[in-house]
Amino acid sequence: MKNNGYYGQWGGSFIPEILHETFAQLNKVYETARHDPAFWQEYVDLMATYSCRPTPLTYAGNLSRHFGGAQIFIKREDLNHTGAHKLNNVIGQGLLVKRMDKKRVIAETGAGQHGVATATMAAKFGLQCTVYMGEEDVRRQRPNVFWMEKLGAEVVPVTSGSGILKDAINAAFRDWVTNMDDSHYCLGTACGPHPFPEMVAWFQSIIGLEAREQISKQFGSAPARVYACVGGGSNAMGIFQGFLGQPDVELVGVEAGGYGLASGKHAARLASDDSSPGVAQGYKTMFLQDDDGQMRTTHSVAAGLDYVGVSPILTDLWEQGRVRFASATDKEVMAALELTMTREGIIPALESSHAFAQAFKEVGDLPADQSVIINMSGRGDKDIFTIANAFADPSWQQFIINKGKEYEAAR
Ligand SMILES: *Cc1c(COP(=O)(O)O)cnc(C)c1O
Repeated sequence: MKNNGYYGQWGGSFIPEILHETFAQLNKVYETARHDPAFWQEYVDLMATYSCRPTPLTYAGNLSRHFGGAQIFIKREDLNHTGAHKLNNVIGQGLLVKRMDKKRVIAETGAGQHGVATATMAAKFGLQCTVYMGEEDVRRQRPNVFWMEKLGAEVVPVTSGSGILKDAINAAFRDWVTNMDDSHYCLGTACGPHPFPEMVAWFQSIIGLEAREQISKQFGSAPARVYACVGGGSNAMGIFQGFLGQPDVELVGVEAGGYGLASGKHAARLASDDSSPGVAQGYKTMFLQDDDGQMRTTHSVAAGLDYVGVSPILTDLWEQGRVRFASATDKEVMAALELTMTREGIIPALESSHAFAQAFKEVGDLPADQSVIINMSGRGDKDIFTIANAFADPSWQQFIINKGKEYEAAR
């Protein structure tokens, strides 16, 4: 690597000595694959037969008329196998694991989406799979834990720290240090030590490559703007890469505004003034941390956006002014979700709904002969518990109570 994994001053590879050889091996297999057109073709073919790629670009005519501005197009990553863009990354890493001839994968997961995707890939490729998940998240995300276990993965609840995503990442690194000979750490987003940010972004670039071709075919010109939600930054990097070389295309990253930036209860790293430069979890970026470098607690209605760090590649693009950052509050997100469901018959994940919410705030200001793309990172079905609660749906609540009673009676 020319830049040694640095993007401006961000990124790098802050890893314990003992992992140096493992990272050297990973870098080598990744670099070889990246320069091997046959590898990319194998990846594209597998995604086509296993995961519905290319995913469609859907024209949202009703929403476009509703706002009366630019024409809205939606990139449908929800139609991927397992319901989100996450599979793009894990299938790519799975192919590298095969090349390294390793037998086991480790993953961290917050909301459980990356865990489910990794367990899926492991089942398909015949790999052992261990998923680390904060015990708090295990409690909150039981359906995903259920599927990971049914897919054959071992889910290890992490009790250290606050029992959330960052603690799961630390536990996954500890496992890797002890089992590096036969195990690969399948990191879930465009963060962490080099080569993960670049490698994950590369696998996700399939989104942008498809979208660039699709918008040109379906609309006849490049979009004025592209919106994507940003947790760690992998779906955003995925679609942005299709348009980075076109300076007229404005790229907008949307972070979790939670209860509002003023409340302090959010996960806006680049859209708020609450973050500062730091080195943690193997890389340098803008973290939500206090003056002592202690990570702050974050909040979002969308579990997948609730992370203290952000991709160093995005931090660099933000610093360069190439990507604009904004945030959407939980409330704005629920309104955008409701509108998208009722106008288009599409159910975005709560994470993706952040991108929709920000687009809806701005799209009316653009002329009707322009277009915008919203990256729909995943489908909302997984969020039924949270969404039903947020809408305070009484018959849903009754359904849950009845289910509980049925189980009690059967015990
Ligand atoms: C995990 C997840 C995200 C956030 O991750 P990024 O790496 O920022 O893309 C966004 N949307 C969905 C549906 C997810 O599952």
